[in-house]
Amino acid sequence: MSIRIEIDGVEVGTEQNTNLVDAAAAAGVYIPTLCYLRGKPCLGTCRVCSVKVNGHVMPACTVEVADGMSVEVDEPETADMRKALVEMLFAEGNHNCPSCEKSGRCTLQAVAYEVDMLVSRFPYRFPIRERDHGSERIWLERDRCIFCQRCVEFVRDEAGNKIFSISGRGAESRIDVDTERADAMPIEQVRYAVEICPVGAILEKQVGFDVPIGRRKYEVKSVRERALDPGEDCG
Ligand code: SF4
Repeated sequence: MSIRIEIDGVEVGTEQNTNLVDAAAAAGVYIPTLCYLRGKPCLGTCRVCSVKVNGHVMPACTVEVADGMSVEVDEPETADMRKALVEMLFAEGNHNCPSCEKSGRCTLQAVAYEVDMLVSRFPYRFPIRERDHGSERIWLERDRCIFCQRCVEFVRDEAGNKIFSISGRGAESRIDVDTERADAMPIEQVRYAVEICPVGAILEKQVGFDVPIGRRKYEVKSVRERALDPGEDCG
């Protein structure tokens, strides 16, 4: 059923049962996301898509549109809050973009550009989380993980078992991989895991720098353009 909502003072039409990220994108309004993957169930882990809905701050991927809903995306306080969330993710991990294999195709880096981040306002923690090279094809750079849980939920073996998991709590949290299941993954699934990881935490061994600088995902088309294009994945 068609309904009307208001985004930043402009009335737009959308369909019921649509989440706010998708409804806004269809109306040409970009809302940054990191854990949300178009067409997949919402995870709601990163909160980077936070907007004001009827005056209350909410992660847009978790909100189903409703007739008459009033949404603020570009309101300065909310935009700065999204920026702070991105800055916090940079401070909580080790994200050295110039030396990272995922640079240019890293969604965190691309979203940081979109929210105009230059440097984090929070003290950098420089976590030390041991790398995991145990699997034949996959290598984990754990200190880049932002705990979005995409890999945990969307990468499973044929029986539906999880291949990735998060262990520990708080500052001791880390991403783990079941080596036996990872070694049984078809190469397409390995590449899918690398692709959907929004940072350079999951890497395929031996192909780290396979795409030249200038031809990488977000160098060809920005994360904003991709998010607004219904034919594209959204990072
Ligand atoms: S390894 Fe990547 S996909 Fe998995 S939780 Fe961490 S950031 Fe998300």
